[in-house]
Amino acid sequence: MTQTPTRPTRPARTARKRGEGQWALGYREPLNPNEQSKKDDHPLNVRARIENIYAVRGFASIDPGDLRGRFRWYGLYTQRKPGIDGGKTATLEPHELDDEYFMLRIRIDGGALTTEQLRVIGAISTEFGRDTADITDRQNVQLHWIRIEDVPEIWRRLEAVGLSTTEACGDCPRVILGSPVAGIAADEIIDPTRAIRDIVDRYIGDPQYANLPRKFKTAITGHPSQDVVPEINDVAFVGVNHPEYGPGFDLWVGGGLSTNPMLAQRLGAWVPEEEVAEVWAAVVAVFRDYGYRRLRHRARIKFLVADWGTEKFRAVMETEYLKRNLVDGPAPITPTAPGDHVGINEQKDGRFFVGFSMAAGRTSGSALTALADLAEKHGSQRIRTTPMQKLLVLDVAGEQLDGLIAEAEEIGLSARPNAWKRSVLACTGIEFCKLAIVETKAQAARVIDELERRLGALDTPITVNINGCPNSCARIQVADIGLKGQLVAGPDGTQVEGFQVHLGGGLGLDAGFGRKLRGHKVTADEVPDYVERLARAYLAGRESDERFAQ
Ligand code: SF4
Repeated sequence: MTQTPTRPTRPARTARKRGEGQWALGYREPLNPNEQSKKDDHPLNVRARIENIYAVRGFASIDPGDLRGRFRWYGLYTQRKPGIDGGKTATLEPHELDDEYFMLRIRIDGGALTTEQLRVIGAISTEFGRDTADITDRQNVQLHWIRIEDVPEIWRRLEAVGLSTTEACGDCPRVILGSPVAGIAADEIIDPTRAIRDIVDRYIGDPQYANLPRKFKTAITGHPSQDVVPEINDVAFVGVNHPEYGPGFDLWVGGGLSTNPMLAQRLGAWVPEEEVAEVWAAVVAVFRDYGYRRLRHRARIKFLVADWGTEKFRAVMETEYLKRNLVDGPAPITPTAPGDHVGINEQKDGRFFVGFSMAAGRTSGSALTALADLAEKHGSQRIRTTPMQKLLVLDVAGEQLDGLIAEAEEIGLSARPNAWKRSVLACTGIEFCKLAIVETKAQAARVIDELERRLGALDTPITVNINGCPNSCARIQVADIGLKGQLVAGPDGTQVEGFQVHLGGGLGLDAGFGRKLRGHKVTADEVPDYVERLARAYLAGRESDERFAQ
């Protein structure tokens, strides 16, 4: 049989590699303004300018390249100027959206805080941040209304208690998500605390690992509920028992949301606790050297993993970076859904940890200070933040529980929240975010209040994630009901704030992305009615233990 000649593919392949700006292939020339900025001056160098120049001379002295680029490496973004509606987000120039105040993100690796650290954060918020504080869905605390003049003093106070904002944003390894119940849960497979500490101590702040093609997100858990959303992180270490070697971590790479959402994939490798930091650095180095730097929307590691496949990714990492092979390992057991740890839970030492919920992570500096006092009054000195925008108080004796829970309720923290307060997440939204099109936090509070009033208690949580724009900071694609902020047609045909709906996403057993249904758009005003209709339809039509995403 005559074979049809195939067209040569090499030239196209070579052109594509050249065009992607992969350092390891010799293409070091910056191919976009972000890469140029990072080449002109390493973003970590901006700290000295903040301390010595900008904080002294004020906002007007800040170089625009630092303001909208390098500042992120220290957790600083300008806030959105108040009063600019979402319709103008895409049409105004960046400087027209900039307020002279900053959002400041404090990285809390593993979500682990002492009460002393929490008290310092609370005081910084009340003194410098108009008493704002949000617990983010990446275990950070985010403050607002920060003046550049106050940043050095804020850093001094944070660093005096072992906290930092270094690499809290930017094209670098962001905060390391860690199991909020690390070291205390009775059913933990392995404690990730040391592995997280190793990564932070060895690599965060090291310029060699702080100029990546794009942001880089890490999650590490040893808890069977996989409580750090590992499926949607760039790299994840997930606790698993190896039949021969015992407890360790299964290595996943390439998860991420926003454009082209992808779930992280297993490399089939088992990593012992003491090797996590080294293997993590090898994954980061593969990304740094082979990642696609030309187009920002194709720069996350997931695109490299998708093109290479897991076999090649692992082979390159082992051969060129680790210089050894990793041990093959089994897959962890998939949980029904990621744990949120809300409520009273017994620790392995017989004491208890209490998980508190607030409306979509919104709290205040004074509430955080009050929580630190409360925790200490009831015998605890340890707090954890969670990727579900919750707060845990650890090490509580049984006889202290009732007092702690009752007093926490008075500062807006509920250990027995209604189902909606527990399962609604929201990103920052138009109140402070320059990319936002719609408001989110007040919307979340309204959904929680209305749905609780209309539907009462639910036996199965329905997750509602609310985003202020098409990005996915609040993980809309993996919620039962994901609401993506955009302008939609109002009742009279004019454009009003609203949402595109994504339905049926999930993590754990239901891991997958919600469907974007044509025509499923709601105005902001209609959201509670819409969620109520969906919830009633699900409750009326479900099989005995059928989850929403099924
Ligand atoms: Fe801002 Fe959009 Fe992220 Fe929300 S999802 S915080 S509006 S960038």
